[in-house]
Amino acid sequence: MQIAGIGVGNGIAVGPALRMPDPIGEPDDVESLAEAPDEYRRVVSSLEAVTGELVELGHQAGGDAEEILEAQSLMAQDPAVVDDIRLRIGDGKTAERAVFEAYEEYAKVLEGLGENPAARGADVRDVARRVIARLRGVALPTVPQSDAPFVLVAHDLAPADTATLDLSKVLAFVTRDGSNSSHTAILARNKNLVAVVGAAGSDAIVNGQTVIVDAEHGRVVIDPDESSVAAAAERGGTVAAPRPLTPGALADGTPVPLLANVGAPEEAAPAVALGAEGIGLFRTEFLYLDARKAPPVDLQRSRYRDLMAAFSGRKVVVRVLDAGADKQLAFLGHTHEENPALGRRGIRALREHEDVLRDQLAALAGAQEDTGADLWVMAPMVADVAETAYFVELARSLELSTVGITVEVPSAAVLADQLVPLCDFVSIGTNDLTQYALAADRMLGSVAQYQDPWHPAVLRLIKLIGDAGHASATPVGVCGEAASDPLMAVVLVGLGAEDLSMSPGALADVRATLARVTLEQARELAARTLVQTSAADARAVVAEALG
Ligand code: PEP
Ligand code: MG
Repeated sequence: MQIAGIGVGNGIAVGPALRMPDPIGEPDDVESLAEAPDEYRRVVSSLEAVTGELVELGHQAGGDAEEILEAQSLMAQDPAVVDDIRLRIGDGKTAERAVFEAYEEYAKVLEGLGENPAARGADVRDVARRVIARLRGVALPTVPQSDAPFVLVAHDLAPADTATLDLSKVLAFVTRDGSNSSHTAILARNKNLVAVVGAAGSDAIVNGQTVIVDAEHGRVVIDPDESSVAAAAERGGTVAAPRPLTPGALADGTPVPLLANVGAPEEAAPAVALGAEGIGLFRTEFLYLDARKAPPVDLQRSRYRDLMAAFSGRKVVVRVLDAGADKQLAFLGHTHEENPALGRRGIRALREHEDVLRDQLAALAGAQEDTGADLWVMAPMVADVAETAYFVELARSLELSTVGITVEVPSAAVLADQLVPLCDFVSIGTNDLTQYALAADRMLGSVAQYQDPWHPAVLRLIKLIGDAGHASATPVGVCGEAASDPLMAVVLVGLGAEDLSMSPGALADVRATLARVTLEQARELAARTLVQTSAADARAVVAEALG
């Protein structure tokens, strides 16, 4: 299959596609429940943060990119737009919606002025998305990480994304939107990157598919035959072969199923294309985020069915709603908390609103009945025996057969010998386990250096969970980002994890690294990390051994 677009330069490249996650969506136009001055204050501080971020990214990138990103940072301070946002908030819009509408209007004005200003519309929308992400307390979708070279496929790339691409990994990029005069195309040209922009059919490309990006002819060939790949190589193209999608296993044959973390049913098919053997973490928050009340059971059931259908016969681990912290929901009674990560989050909020939890569990049981999926259900933020017993009993009473918890609060890890035997499985959430063990807010850039799962304190907690799983023959998995780090994956297996779940883009590298060690070697390396005195030393042990 071939799709047309606008070539940037005249190079050619061949490689496996890796998609950038979809951009942050348009905020719902719902009436704001917050006080206008508070909403406006949130916007002002988000705009300041985004300004600083763009300037900093510009400094890092240098050259033309610095100028472009600096110009973009000024869009975050444009007095007319800021005033427009203030007025919209005054009219009852939420901060997110007001930002979206004001910048959208600005982008449309630019688009009405001809080709060059029109291309700036994309930069304006990128500013809005950055601000909205900050207001929601979520990370912006970023370029996927991979140890192997790949072709990046995206709806569009912001100048900041293009300016900071790792050129040793990104062979070429394809965007659905964008024009020859967009800043992204300009930066691609400066970097000598092979690119096709404005390729309207590129939404059809799924992760892992081989693509030829032919900038000279402005076309992208999906799943090319061997002779087309050979012809591209003859034209001097960079050719990277896709790696085989074998099931995860150690060198001695010990299986380590490699699963995917997904946040919406639409992410299931691309995960399968990258060799995910199942879902190890389905974050269900997407169903609730912009909702003013919990979604009806039927709607939930059909969305869960979409996900389970893509993984028929394979394991699908679904986590019930993890609201609180950065995802505050009015219908769960969330109000301002000074330290929301330490507040009414996860199972704490659900227990107080058991109707919401019961509905979700009923919808999940229904979707399992519809699809015959191998459904595993777990609760977030469980801290002790009482919470574990509460969730396990409730879920079982609602016909769910495989019920467990996410171990991400240090107290649960310390009490693993009490909690784990009560469950059918447990999954270690290393993101939160690290944040809570090291008292370093995962949303706060200024303490990012403390948020390191290689810290021996975190590794020792993980070992407690692995040991408890072993003692009670309860499966232990890992679903935090640490599992995406190939060297850490070896340690996690050595500490007792039986499967690993990660962003699908990381599967290939983790698969390749696990295949190099036996279970005995993984255990030996893990034991050595536990006696180190710093995260850097623990990592060095494994890096040195595995080269
Ligand atoms: C974790 O905490 O490691 C986890 C997987 O959950 P989340 O990142 O959604 O909090
Ligand atoms: Mg978590």
